Amino acid sequence: MAARLLDGAAVAQVIRAEVSPAVAAFTARAGRPPGLGIVLVGDDPASEIYVRNKLKSAADAGLRADLMRLAAGASLDDLLAVVEQLNHSEVHDGILVQSPLPAKMGAEAERRVFDVIRSDKDVDGFHPVNVGLLVQNRATLAACTPSGVIELLERSQVQIAGARAVVIGRSDIVGKPMALLLLHRHATVTICHSRTRDLPQVAAEADILVAAIGRAGFVTPAFVKPGAAVIDVGTSQVSDRAVVERLFPPGSKRREVFERRGSIVVGDVHPDVAEVAGALSPVPGGVGPLTIAMLLRNTLAAAQLRAGVAR
Ligand code: NAP
Repeated sequence: MAARLLDGAAVAQVIRAEVSPAVAAFTARAGRPPGLGIVLVGDDPASEIYVRNKLKSAADAGLRADLMRLAAGASLDDLLAVVEQLNHSEVHDGILVQSPLPAKMGAEAERRVFDVIRSDKDVDGFHPVNVGLLVQNRATLAACTPSGVIELLERSQVQIAGARAVVIGRSDIVGKPMALLLLHRHATVTICHSRTRDLPQVAAEADILVAAIGRAGFVTPAFVKPGAAVIDVGTSQVSDRAVVERLFPPGSKRREVFERRGSIVVGDVHPDVAEVAGALSPVPGGVGPLTIAMLLRNTLAAAQLRAGVAR
């Protein structure tokens, strides 16, 4: 039997519809809209698309959103100077520096940037202060993608309290905050990674399985307990025909898109999982739209906090 679709696009639309009137109310009270400053370094095509979507969604919600661009050759100091400017800006409540940064900025660049962003403007929830608050279950600004997953589960009536949850992936931006958010909602949480022994067996104990790995179709039905809710966070741009043919049957919609565009975005979860899982979030149209909706909500929250407005 095919899994129930966890429709992230629809849930994101509901969240955006909740955010818009609150943005309007803030704007009326403060005499200015909540403001988001986005910094993009270089010209990575995927980042360009993500940033464009964020700017459009922010404008649609009534936020002020400004893009600061730096050339691919910019130094880390150049970037930190722009962040400092936004830290001092009166009209920007949120700051987002688009990942990934150019490799030549160094392995520690992202961490340096997250350390420098004012914690009350850190709408990505990556600043150590916000991570610490998240650990203590008192975060206002939590990482957008894992927060979006929680919204998707809760608004789709997937019971979290008491559930066995397995998160595959332990990054600072997805896996770890995801595990904490599930824990705070009383799931019993296991975090898996590339050194986990017997990964399929561990994953198959989950009532809620979150895959945040970045490997196309990695999670096969062997990883999934029948009836489990499976959340696919992964997004891999696949242009290798053999991979696409292995995952999607001839005549399928995904194959058609691949033929047209020469590449497609593929999640971590193998399509056959739909036959085993009870509920499944698709890629695209699952977690991605929620990430942007949570960014808007975090920007509103940051503006309200800075203005001393009760939330
Ligand atoms: P990341 O920093 O590369 O982390 C990947 C994690 O997966 C690591 O913890 C790694 O384990 C684990 N992993 C890799 N190969 C594995 C394997 N064979 N078995 C078990 N675990 C394995 O990636 P990320 O930033 O967390 O992102 C994960 C995925 O989510 C990516 O595809 C990314 O594009 C996507 N993403 C989507 C959104 C969205 O809005 N939809 C937002 C953010 C990220 P180790 O720690 O042991 O190396």
